Amino acid sequence: MSSESSIALTTLDVLQRPLQDLRISVTDRCNFRCPYCMPSEVFGERYAFLPKPEILRFEEIERLTRIFAQLGVRKLRITGGEPLLRAELPCLIERLAGIPGVEDLALTTNGVLLAQHAEALRAAGLVRVTVSLDALDEATFQRLSGRRAEVARVLDGIEAARSAGLAPIKINAVVIKGVNEHAVLELVDQFRGTGHILRLIEFMDVGTRNAWDRERVVSADEMLARIDAVYPLEPVAPARAGDVARRYRYRDGAGEIGIIASVSEPFCGGCTRARLSADGQLFTCLFGTQGYDLKALLRGTASDDVVRQRLREIWRRRSDRYSEERGELTMAQPSASGPAHSRVEMNRIGG
Ligand code: SF4
Repeated sequence: MSSESSIALTTLDVLQRPLQDLRISVTDRCNFRCPYCMPSEVFGERYAFLPKPEILRFEEIERLTRIFAQLGVRKLRITGGEPLLRAELPCLIERLAGIPGVEDLALTTNGVLLAQHAEALRAAGLVRVTVSLDALDEATFQRLSGRRAEVARVLDGIEAARSAGLAPIKINAVVIKGVNEHAVLELVDQFRGTGHILRLIEFMDVGTRNAWDRERVVSADEMLARIDAVYPLEPVAPARAGDVARRYRYRDGAGEIGIIASVSEPFCGGCTRARLSADGQLFTCLFGTQGYDLKALLRGTASDDVVRQRLREIWRRRSDRYSEERGELTMAQPSASGPAHSRVEMNRIGG
């Protein structure tokens, strides 16, 4: 790529953050009911998920992603709900993998359907996967996934991804005080020396349904101290500006772990992520309240130039920094949870 084109390809927001990452939710449905995302008492049998006609078709997602790539997007992540519930997903992966400028194509899944799909996803052009796994003991796993599957199926999915050649494999675990702190060292033991990268995530106030409370957050420092006491760690430089995880390696060479500390150490300053919901709403922050309707543009008469101009306008006006604001607010009022506004639910835009 020549330098002129790279300058033309950089789109900066109000805080000079480039648009580089696009997270694409392909469904709002999930086969799990994780209490910190889709508590089963809310997302029950009668919950009205998005009707099919409202969900973006693969050709619409491809068209939008092409335009995002022209504005500087280089990394794509497929999310949900649970993306492997979307039929024919390898067809979409194939379309996206071929878009000029796309350098990385990842998928986040709860892993239960991964053993069935890993080979086809890899063959279609998927590069790597992130699997959510919050505990290894069955009781805690059941409690944190809504009693919908067994740990063994997730571990089988991870193994299938490894043998299909999806790499690196990251394992995401949300840690909640009083629920699964004990799982931190069990997960460390499970994935040390495997080449898979465990990432421990501070419990966040995503959406409006997970009864978040700062008292239930296990901070990054607490998690690190717990691990370092058993397996000494050393910090590793970030691979890329805007990466969400703080990286560490085991001093004994057994690999790497990451910590995502959105509550205790917000990283909004380097946030280069846009999020597309399954029904074509663009969110410029995980804690956003209002999406920009792109579906109407796509299904209307707008040309690619008009869509591109609209995306550029949206990003250029972006000033989101929710996690930093939450931090500032709770500094001023320790009892405060975060800026009180109705945040988009996580099953609509993925993590
Ligand atoms: S809170 Fe919003 S702006 Fe900050 S890092 Fe998360 S998604 Fe980005």
